[in-house]
Amino acid sequence: MSNVDKHRHASGEASDNCLFCKIASGKIPSRKVYEDEALLAFHDINPWAPVHFLIIPKVHIASMAQVTLEHEALLGRMMVLAPRLALEQGCRPYPEGGYRIVTNTGAEGGQEVHHLHIHVMGGPRPWLRG
Ligand code: AMP
Ligand code: ZN
Repeated sequence: MSNVDKHRHASGEASDNCLFCKIASGKIPSRKVYEDEALLAFHDINPWAPVHFLIIPKVHIASMAQVTLEHEALLGRMMVLAPRLALEQGCRPYPEGGYRIVTNTGAEGGQEVHHLHIHVMGGPRPWLRG
């Protein structure tokens, strides 16, 4: 069993119908920002800000509510990657520039796609939202 399959079983959720699993596997196209063996970053299809991209793990984790110590290193990688990609995508440096990192979790948290992702938003104000 591959690591991806182990995660899918551990999450207890069928990821066959998951939009971001399909993007991670290339079944659905995306405007890619970054990819390595564990992570994919791509532009949000409906951006709120001049810079707005998502970072996802390739393994299916439904949300932050399913995260365990097993995912510690993976989440660390996502958070370390975000500032680097933000600058590469045109956010101005801290402190004048900067960016916002958001993870919506669950219905009341505003989560629409149930595959863990962090939003990275930045660029000159005003933004469409936020
Ligand atoms: P959330 O509400 O936090 O679950 O955010 C889901 C985000 O995914 C929204 O900002 C959507 O605009 C974005 N989104 C949905 N479908 C796609 C897609 N096919 N490619 C890129 N971004 C998408
Ligand atoms: Zn998924």
